[in-house]
Amino acid sequence: MSDIIQLLPDHVANQIAAGEVVQRPASVVKELLENAIDAQATHIKLIIKEAGKTLIQVIDNGSGMSVTDARLSFERHATSKIKAAEDLFELNTKGFRGEALASIAAIAHVELKTKQEEDEVGTEINIEGSEVISQEVCVTPKGTSISVKNLFYNIPARRNFLKSNAVELRHIIDEFHRVTMAHHSIKFDMYHNGSEIFNLPISNCRQRIVNIFGGKTNEKLVPVKEETDLVTISGFIGKPEYAKRTRGEQFFFVNNRFIKSGYLNHAVNAAFEGLLKDKAHPSYFVYLTVDPKSIDINIHPTKTEIKFEDEHALYAMLRASIKHSLGQFNVAPVLDFNRDASMDTPYEYKSKTAQTPTIEVDRNFNPFKEEKVSGSGGGSFSGKSHASFKKESAGDWENLYVGLESEMTTTKPTENDFSSVEFESTEVTGSLFESDEKKVGHHTTYQLRKKYIVTTIKSGMVIVNQHRAHQRILYEELLRNITMASAVSQQLLFPLTLSFTKKEIELLTTVKEQLENTGFVFGELSPGEVEITGIPSVTSEKEVAQLLEQLISDLEEEVPDSGFSQTDLLARSISKSIAVRAGVELASEQQQYMVNSLFACTEPTITPNNKPTFITLTVDEIDKKF
Ligand code: ADP
Ligand code: MG
Repeated sequence: MSDIIQLLPDHVANQIAAGEVVQRPASVVKELLENAIDAQATHIKLIIKEAGKTLIQVIDNGSGMSVTDARLSFERHATSKIKAAEDLFELNTKGFRGEALASIAAIAHVELKTKQEEDEVGTEINIEGSEVISQEVCVTPKGTSISVKNLFYNIPARRNFLKSNAVELRHIIDEFHRVTMAHHSIKFDMYHNGSEIFNLPISNCRQRIVNIFGGKTNEKLVPVKEETDLVTISGFIGKPEYAKRTRGEQFFFVNNRFIKSGYLNHAVNAAFEGLLKDKAHPSYFVYLTVDPKSIDINIHPTKTEIKFEDEHALYAMLRASIKHSLGQFNVAPVLDFNRDASMDTPYEYKSKTAQTPTIEVDRNFNPFKEEKVSGSGGGSFSGKSHASFKKESAGDWENLYVGLESEMTTTKPTENDFSSVEFESTEVTGSLFESDEKKVGHHTTYQLRKKYIVTTIKSGMVIVNQHRAHQRILYEELLRNITMASAVSQQLLFPLTLSFTKKEIELLTTVKEQLENTGFVFGELSPGEVEITGIPSVTSEKEVAQLLEQLISDLEEEVPDSGFSQTDLLARSISKSIAVRAGVELASEQQQYMVNSLFACTEPTITPNNKPTFITLTVDEIDKKF
């Protein structure tokens, strides 16, 4: 048999290598920005069209390249940054593999214009799929401009794999954040589809972070500083009270390179121990400077993971210095030895938890309307208006029992058994509310541990999980509102202004229309701030910030692709945020509303996240236990 092994042609090898280096437009952005930084630029412009799918251009005022270098830069393993393997341990540049430009040129249309200070004219090179189309002399300012057009044009599978523009743009912005945060003494601008998204002047580290994440960030930051033989630590941590549900703002930089490290992240969390609410993540912007010899950057192709020589010591130092900062800036509780004993809590109050004073406002109160509900509300919903809670009230009990009764012989009710109940009850609640009021008392509900609602039915009992049930009820209501744009909005007396990062606002913009359908009314969406003038009637003003924060976090985690799933995600996220929690006492009317509305749902048995909303216990089952 003849020989069968052959060397792959360069353009094929490059395409394969490109798979490692270029996953999506954001990877190109990272490589080009890093090249510009390595070229000592002081001003770097990033221009994007259609989330990088049609154009990614980086213009810098750095060193530029000679004619020969310009041509060579697209060869694989062509780099000016290292000469020998030992240089890997003395790295002061971002790049060193000499792979990026070759890879990018293999899968896109690339146009390079570059000129060195001392040269009269510059060089322009056009490459398509590793093939040099043209090379000529051109007039161009000092520095380099690289345009990458039609990424993955020759690999349709990869192109189809790209996510929506909103998602790809988010990845690009992430990358832009990381690079710009590590280089505050370089000016950066970013444009998307012709409009400016970022304009970051040369500044100090703190200003750079504030410029990126918005004006309100400043007050949240606490500086961290530590210098040892092993490492210099600087940067900022977010005060614990600003910790977020999203993992968003967590950044480690090692020698000005963004890295990911679960181990160091653990060290930071350990320093925050006891200071954070459940599930909250602290923000941090931590810069470590170590001897390049003590790290190995080479272990990850995109260089976001590195190996430290002395990881344990680094862990301990990082934790200690953050603890120190938290203490020094009075953020952590400190031991006070000069405490005045007379200030101590009297013994009899010790075990009691302090009660937060509450103000109860009945937003539905209208002095000109006749009082219809007597003795409504148990006070436990203080501050929450829950219009939906009052709007429909207990009434439809007969239906409920009929539905359940036929079901009790089998194990769990299914959708069908209740679907007949659904529209009847939602549509006629108004009249039921008035005329059937007396009936309400006939069936008692009981709240167990402020968590479950227990009620009897002919064949036994139902135990409803209040939080989950409410989630289901709100979810269906929100879905209806979003799809039919029928929500009622409560106008705010004073517009609410919330601050978000540009990236977060970008995300909110993608669901703005749906949010408006739920009842949100937005004023101005300026960079860094969102003005809200109206909110859904099912929420209260103080829930809004948290609701939107949770929504952003959910949107970030669950990459939405189709309009349908996004609507669903939105309804799921919001219903989860505002559903009444365990621990909230419900007045009997509210309990009954809950049970009633739950069984009027299309799918009453489970939450939008597929968890059971109630269980039943038949008399038979109870009998068996005796
Ligand atoms: P690496 O950055 O790993 O060296 P690249 O493929 O990214 O590999 O770039 C190859 C070479 O091209 C670099 O080493 C550098 O000499 C040159 N180069 C790339 N981009 C620029 C730029 N914006 N300005 C000046 N030189 C550049
Ligand atoms: Mg490079």
